[in-house]
Amino acid sequence: MHGPPATRRDALALLSALVLLPGAARAGHREQQADHFLFGSPVRLRVRLPPGEPATPALEATMAGLAQIHRRWNAWKPGELSRLNEAFRAGRALRVAPDLQAVLRSAARLERDAFGLFNPGIGGAVGAWGFHDDVMRPGARPGTRTLAAWRAAAPSLAQLEMRGDTVSSRNPRLQLDLGGYAKGVAIDRALDRLAAQGLGEALVDLGGNLAAMSRPGEPGWHIGIRDPQGPGLVASLVTAGREAVVTSGSYERFRLLDGERCTHILDPLTLAPATGLVSVTVLHASAAHADAAATALLVAGPDRWRRVAEGLGVSRVMVIDRHERVELSAAMAARLRWGSEAWRRRSRVA
Ligand code: AMP
Ligand code: MG
Repeated sequence: MHGPPATRRDALALLSALVLLPGAARAGHREQQADHFLFGSPVRLRVRLPPGEPATPALEATMAGLAQIHRRWNAWKPGELSRLNEAFRAGRALRVAPDLQAVLRSAARLERDAFGLFNPGIGGAVGAWGFHDDVMRPGARPGTRTLAAWRAAAPSLAQLEMRGDTVSSRNPRLQLDLGGYAKGVAIDRALDRLAAQGLGEALVDLGGNLAAMSRPGEPGWHIGIRDPQGPGLVASLVTAGREAVVTSGSYERFRLLDGERCTHILDPLTLAPATGLVSVTVLHASAAHADAAATALLVAGPDRWRRVAEGLGVSRVMVIDRHERVELSAAMAARLRWGSEAWRRRSRVA
């Protein structure tokens, strides 16, 4: 399947925080996979199959479904989301597809439960920082007046007005950016689609966002969590049933602005790049929920992540700070195997 040149693809693949490790094979089954490049990341679908029919048509249809979400819900390219943002700016209502309405409703709930630290309505500020570009070029920080104007407008999904099949907002500065959520939604849907076609043992890996399923009694998928700052693994785990592992990292995408490294994740209250944590990993049944949570917890930082995790109802969390100190919930600790003794020693169950 097509994508960017191999060099860029390889560089991005190296950045991926999660990696599929060799695991227990299922007796009598074989594995088939399909690769693509979407959402600015390598995408991999992998299924376990009994001998016989290949799963190629199901894999192709699932990949096409992912590509469709990528096209529709990229706020920075012409599509449903950019049209909706244009409608907000002009004070118009727009008819919106039912699935996007559902996504906006659940995103609004997640924003509230995350005390506003996950906020997909701050697209204007994301654009002002230049974090929407596929290529993160060095440059200058946005001006203080520009950021003050976005802060004063205080965009929030609570300002969405949904009537029948239309959506509007009285805040012209509400600008949707689903960059912290759509990948999770997309990989949940990919698993639904594979399951509907009888492929109950599958994995979708979308650069730092991974969702897997295995049938009861069958082995799960063995996932490695990479060291954010060097080679090797921090830890690994085996998925159970249907489960997603999602990582948000301040090291993954950033711009050098006025010589300083600025991560692509913003604190919605200050509209400054999040500092404090280098990486957050969330394990949850829903990839969409885990995706929003990982973004929110990265913003929450070392002092607030526990409270925000509680608000969001996520119990399996691991965070790593700039000094490579690891904190994790007891429920997460129960699932992990450390990548080295050094990582185990640097960890603390909180
Ligand atoms: P993720 O990699 O899932 O943490 O998502 C990061 C992306 O989400 C960024 O590239 C922005 O497009 C968007 N974003 C940045 N800050 C936030 C935030 N506080 N809440 C929601 N989305 C955000
Ligand atoms: Mg996210």
